[in-house]
Amino acid sequence: MKEIYKNVGAVIITVELLIAMYCYIFIPFIPINTMEYGVLLNIIKQKTVDSITVDKNSEYVTVTLKDISDSPSNQYKVQIADQYYLKGLAEENDIKIIEKQRILPTSPYLRVAIIFLLFVLINIFYFLYKRKKDTIVKVIGDTASGKAEEIQNPNVTFEDVAGLDEEKNELIEIVDFLKYPERYTKLGAKVPRGILLDGKPGTGKTLLAKAVAGEAGVTFITASGSEFINKYIGVGADNVKKMFKRAREEAPCIIFIDEIDAIGVKRSDENNGGDSERNQTIDQLLTELDGFRSRNDIIILAATNHPDILDPALTRPGRFDRTIHIGLPDVSARTEILKLHAKNKPLFEDVRLDEIAKNTAGFSGAELENLLNESAIHAARHQHEAISNEDISEAFKKITVGIKKKGRIISEEEKKITAIHEAGHSVVSMFMPSEAKIKEVSIIPHGKAGGYTWSDKAEDKQYTSKNEIMERLSVLMAGRAAEQVVIGDISTGATMDIETATQIATNMVSIYGMDSEVGPISIKSIDIQGMKIVSDKTLDTIGGRITNIVKEAENNAISIIIKHRVLLDQVVELLLEKETITGEDIQKIYDQYILEANAK
Ligand code: ADP
Ligand code: MG
Ligand code: ZN
Repeated sequence: MKEIYKNVGAVIITVELLIAMYCYIFIPFIPINTMEYGVLLNIIKQKTVDSITVDKNSEYVTVTLKDISDSPSNQYKVQIADQYYLKGLAEENDIKIIEKQRILPTSPYLRVAIIFLLFVLINIFYFLYKRKKDTIVKVIGDTASGKAEEIQNPNVTFEDVAGLDEEKNELIEIVDFLKYPERYTKLGAKVPRGILLDGKPGTGKTLLAKAVAGEAGVTFITASGSEFINKYIGVGADNVKKMFKRAREEAPCIIFIDEIDAIGVKRSDENNGGDSERNQTIDQLLTELDGFRSRNDIIILAATNHPDILDPALTRPGRFDRTIHIGLPDVSARTEILKLHAKNKPLFEDVRLDEIAKNTAGFSGAELENLLNESAIHAARHQHEAISNEDISEAFKKITVGIKKKGRIISEEEKKITAIHEAGHSVVSMFMPSEAKIKEVSIIPHGKAGGYTWSDKAEDKQYTSKNEIMERLSVLMAGRAAEQVVIGDISTGATMDIETATQIATNMVSIYGMDSEVGPISIKSIDIQGMKIVSDKTLDTIGGRITNIVKEAENNAISIIIKHRVLLDQVVELLLEKETITGEDIQKIYDQYILEANAK
């Protein structure tokens, strides 16, 4: 509806401008007769002149004759010799002198040039205005009043997001979809309606969401989950409703819900006073999400930093059914981010951003930005003409205090342990034929894990044979095994690995019947109340067998690592240097290693 008003306004302004231009070009050309200066002096004395219009910057005057007809023809343009004299003469003869400053240039070429310039300026302004309008951020959900508030968003595009190439790649599809929905709808393609951005604070979730809107040139509507939850019952749900109503008006658009976990926590997890409000809000959100399925021009992004506590109803197909993980930046991503934020900051020549990147493992994008900002402040306070290494190290000290509190600063020692642990997983995996290809290994924390080894299809791979399961177990235990072999000590980093391994081994023995000593028995039946199918002795045996299987897997991993220690050390070294390495990187080292081993 508002669009109509805007369009009518635009038409009116355009018409007015056209009229103004017409006047500007043509009205001054209404023919004016010319008259000789001598003639003018004569007719002044004859008192037939009504008035003389003079311009002190011009050698021309306009003479208006006393004439009853009042047609333009009684005006004459006269080139005069001496304005001062003419004025005196006119005064003597009681002729009005009208002083007028000429605003119009006499040359028609100049006028056309001015119009052209005006035209260009108007276009530039319009263009700037449109660009701004396209990315206006609308903050909705203003607590109790429920009033929508609008703020301007500086234009954000993917260029403003550094180092998140994978994430950007995933989101390009969304941008494309918002730009050319017909391409997709024509082919019956369904593009995800809701996308969850999962990452620690300051990793660039909000920035990415804004950039998607900026790239697609659509409106960005944002609200924060915590703002929805209000002490007044019903306001949260109402705000959700308002936000979606707004989205329908503004479409195509992006809705961004920050801190969605504030409303979307598992319902079983809550038992405090805000419950019923939270329930109403999330119910409303679910209703809106479902009602949106037919809309192709609205995409909802939500950010969270604990996807594990989200209500499963939210992540069902058709709702937030896609998650993009945004990890802390690795060393090359950190370099990119630093470069981006250093763009408008003068640095002394000996400041090496790549060196700073190396020393800031565990920093988020926001913290890196903050580091440069604090450095600039330090430099300014000490009246340095540019930012020096000393400014940066002072800022670093200041910032790390805060990061240390969050337990996120990674020491060299920790980095080394994580590298050894993850290298253990990947090296042992290389020797296990049934294991999926490694995609990425990193020593940058992700979720609860200190580092990670990410295999191609590790999650949905079905391990069917006993042999395959044993290989999987060896890989799982390899992190801990590597720590034992290289450091001679073990860390808590393997807790999750042991948990998973124990679960798998338990299934082997008690469900798949893969242990010869226990035999083909399913202990699930132990759940049947009051019945004792399995004796205590059997249970002891099962416990013992599980431990044995895990130990066997660990021993297997240890022997592989001892045998291929050289390979392990190479992977560790690369990990320490690059922090995140790809499966191909490892494959290359492996191939080279095998080649050299065969040559011996
Ligand atoms: P989040 O929403 O994940 O908490 P933000 O998107 O609000 O993080 O990031 C805060 C600020 O940190 C951004 O405005 C940006 O200046 C900076 N920042 C974070 N990540 C990046 C990145 N990858 N590239 C460039 N700047 C970043
Ligand atoms: Mg944010
Ligand atoms: Zn591990």
